Amino acid sequence: MNLNLNDKNALIMASSKGIGKAIAYGLASEGVNLYLSARSLDLLTSIQTDIQDQYQVKVEIFPADLSNYNDRENLISAVKAKYSTIDIIVHNMGGPKPSTVLNTSIDEWTNSFNSLCLPIIHLNNAFIPGMIAQNFGRILAITSLSVIEPIDNMALSNSLRSFITAMLKTLANEIAKYNITVNCLAPGWIKTDRTDELLESRIQLSRQSKDQYLESHLSTIPANRMGNVTEIASLATFLCSNQAGYITGSTMCVDGGKRKSTY
Ligand code: NAD
Repeated sequence: MNLNLNDKNALIMASSKGIGKAIAYGLASEGVNLYLSARSLDLLTSIQTDIQDQYQVKVEIFPADLSNYNDRENLISAVKAKYSTIDIIVHNMGGPKPSTVLNTSIDEWTNSFNSLCLPIIHLNNAFIPGMIAQNFGRILAITSLSVIEPIDNMALSNSLRSFITAMLKTLANEIAKYNITVNCLAPGWIKTDRTDELLESRIQLSRQSKDQYLESHLSTIPANRMGNVTEIASLATFLCSNQAGYITGSTMCVDGGKRKSTY
């Protein structure tokens, strides 16, 4: 299938590792020019070099702490100086810390809202007017299976990603008439540095051997394995295409069947 993505411009947040990085490679393989942002200049530089070696696309990078307002303002200016239009935005961010509702302080709620939710609002406000003017746009957000089924001890993820989902669903309805789609991808267990760390800490708490813990953990996933980043990146790439123009306001789970609900 030809996705007709050649020469589109994509801005991808938190793209130095894991899911964000894999989406960068997926879009580049379809001819999309990239603007990548994350905190580490070294990691971004090495990805920039590698993608430019493999694909005939432009790759710009900008190191930024996306939870910081001024960093985001500087990123927006830098992107606008390089690309006259942004066709695709992929919202992604480091995940929040585990906690219960009762154990989460007011500061933690505020800081997590600032880092998970405000970047999406800020960057959308900056780039959606251009998408409306060109009558094309694709907006994706990486959320979590926690929006479908709350995960114990993940109060911040469960709550704030549900806010993001509802806010983006509302936005999707507002801008669908401009050929702009807005969708969320909800990963279950995709193998990345973050899930490696989460698993390691759970193994230590479980007092089981690594093999025992992994066996019981994987048995909760019908596919009986963790997902690969390319399995979420390929769906993300399709959702950015013209062919996906009638899919908007949706949350798609990439979870090997882990969620118990039908929808
Ligand atoms: P990861 O740790 O592999 O990558 C996270 C990326 O976010 C890195 O590039 C990191 O540098 C960047 N980042 C973190 N904080 C940042 C900040 N303040 N400013 C800029 N960049 C920042 O994580 P991942 O597994 O790829 O997860 C990506 C998102 O998906 C996270 O929000 C995570 O909670 C969510 N998620 C992942 C899974 C999974 O199975 N991997 C499941 C559910 C939800």
